[in-house]
Amino acid sequence: INHSDNVSYHEALPVPTSPDEVHALGMEINQLLKSLNDQVLRDHQFVSDASHELRTPLTAIRGHISLIKRRGDQHPEIIPKSLKFIDDESARMQTLVESLLRLSRMDHVTIDQQLLDINQLVQETVENYQPSIVQPVQVDVSATPLMTTVNADSLQQMLIALLNNASKYSPADQPIQVAAQLIQDQPTITITDNGAGIDDADKTHIFERFYRVDQARSQEIPGTGLGLAIVSRLADLNQIKVTVSDHQPTGTIFTLTFKIKH
Ligand code: ADP
Repeated sequence: INHSDNVSYHEALPVPTSPDEVHALGMEINQLLKSLNDQVLRDHQFVSDASHELRTPLTAIRGHISLIKRRGDQHPEIIPKSLKFIDDESARMQTLVESLLRLSRMDHVTIDQQLLDINQLVQETVENYQPSIVQPVQVDVSATPLMTTVNADSLQQMLIALLNNASKYSPADQPIQVAAQLIQDQPTITITDNGAGIDDADKTHIFERFYRVDQARSQEIPGTGLGLAIVSRLADLNQIKVTVSDHQPTGTIFTLTFKIKH
């Protein structure tokens, strides 16, 4: 909750002089209380979801520590396996905490936006990121500059998260395509993979915090379920539309649509 906002709201309220104005003021106060209440509920849900996600690895870590304490002396052969487990799970917790911090810092920020050519940003990002992905990434940018106003760091973070997912959820020998083009006069970026795709039932949930498709969990593909929640938040802050669709014969397309430059 941004308290400074409330103060300025309060200071800006005019003194009502007629019954109509009293009524209007009452409605405004009601609206304000409702949005405060919604925010408190959202914050509460966030803390509760985050605690749940952190408790799972923590319980597992404590289980292994207790196992080592109880049986490590007599059965030292169990120690390396338990230590590896503790190491992996604590690394996962660290990633989770870092992503949570990133999300919560984004709650009340305003960001600067610059006029830039997304062709160039796409090319640079893919070039820098290709070495850390096994799949070949094919880039196809439009012949003319694609100008839009956006925060460059946000866009880069979004692209990296989407490339990272395209890579995690598709086979090592299947290329990933990134294209920047004008579609119906609007600058767009598409990230296309040739993986297993996402069921329609899951498509509506993947941008929610901590949501992971069962397959991702069961195949133990590493992840926190926060990547797309961060993408979605960055998209809101930059007035970018993010959509997901199927790629034929198999795979997923994420499309970023930018506002037209003014
Ligand atoms: P995670 O850390 O699990 O990758 P995300 O928020 O980035 O979290 O994605 C949420 C879920 O959406 C993933 O767990 C995965 O099931 C699904 N998903 C995301 N991107 C893709 C993709 N390109 N292909 C298939 N499934 C995907």
